Amino acid sequence: MNEQNSDILSKVERHYQEYGLRARELKNEDNKVIAYLCSLVPVEIITAAGCVPFRIRGDVHEPITKGDTNLETIACPFVRSCFDLSVKGRYDFCDGLIIPHACDSLARTYSTWRYSLELPYSHFINVPHTLSESSMEFFMAELNTFRKSLGKFAGKEISDDDLAEAIGLYNENRDKAKALYELRTSDPPLISGTEIAKILTVGMSLPVAESNELFDEVLEEFRQKKGTPLQKAPRIMLDGACMDNIDFVKLVEDSGANVVVDSLCIGTRDYWPNADVGGDPVDALAHRYLDKINCPRTYREKAGETYDEDLRSRFGDIGSLSKEFKVDGVILYIYKYCDPFGFEVPARKAYFDSIKMPVLYLEDEYSAGTIGRLRTRIQAFLEMIG
Ligand code: SF4
Repeated sequence: MNEQNSDILSKVERHYQEYGLRARELKNEDNKVIAYLCSLVPVEIITAAGCVPFRIRGDVHEPITKGDTNLETIACPFVRSCFDLSVKGRYDFCDGLIIPHACDSLARTYSTWRYSLELPYSHFINVPHTLSESSMEFFMAELNTFRKSLGKFAGKEISDDDLAEAIGLYNENRDKAKALYELRTSDPPLISGTEIAKILTVGMSLPVAESNELFDEVLEEFRQKKGTPLQKAPRIMLDGACMDNIDFVKLVEDSGANVVVDSLCIGTRDYWPNADVGGDPVDALAHRYLDKINCPRTYREKAGETYDEDLRSRFGDIGSLSKEFKVDGVILYIYKYCDPFGFEVPARKAYFDSIKMPVLYLEDEYSAGTIGRLRTRIQAFLEMIG
């Protein structure tokens, strides 16, 4: 590894450990930083407004204390952790906050976030739960309302050209993330799942142009490397909800597996679908965020005559990924009180059974302490499929 290459990985490490470092710098240079939660916020609109989008993440190493004085403990632990860090001032450089109606844990806590953080700007995006024509029309109107409201706050009218330019930059970003994933199609992979998780997490804390540069430099680093220190091992796909800490991925890899692909937010669910280009940009964004992101919070009409056909239409994208990345087994990892994913566990398991893919289902808190306790079950699963 040459000097320049090791520099880029040190940069990733630094921005992962000191998450928000760059956003804080940009705030000090008089930029407006707009925080958001979840993959359903159209970051293109924030970028088109000339603001810096910054995805709030939680911290599995930080006990949730102050946040629990305002949020009920039966809410999603990931949301509680994000809220806890925010009220403790970890993200005090943010000027605004966007929360979408992703799941109830997010939607029902919006007023608490607003009340507790007292930010100069906040906005709730009402994302419909169905894919009908009228839902799409409603969502486009919602996105236009958001566009106007944020434009007013930023002091800039957001034009269609601004949006098209931002869409182009984010599509580039997603293509680069896919190129990073391709480094894992070989056996052994050229890059670990832990490294990818760290890089993608850092990417969401940077303006998209800087995230593009970072991904390019990382790609260059790994393409130039001769060989890989990784060993052949069971190839695992992680399936589940919002994962923004590397700890669980690392545990799986330390237990003797290579995590080669995922179906996670801050993973393929977020990075795979591009927005269409060339047409109406708001229409393109509405379709990307409501339809193309395959999240269980969005209800899809039953497809096909039989249960198996329906499963195939709902989870076929995950099955294709498992084939493409030559997966040996899936770990379905869900947080306690995450209703959208929790309700879907039987169907997801049934789908994996139907494609004869071994699956280990784990339910967990959002905490480094509880993650460690899962080691034995993961090791037993790896032995079984190894
Ligand atoms: S983990 Fe589940 S409950 Fe928590 S924010 Fe994501 S979808 Fe909502």
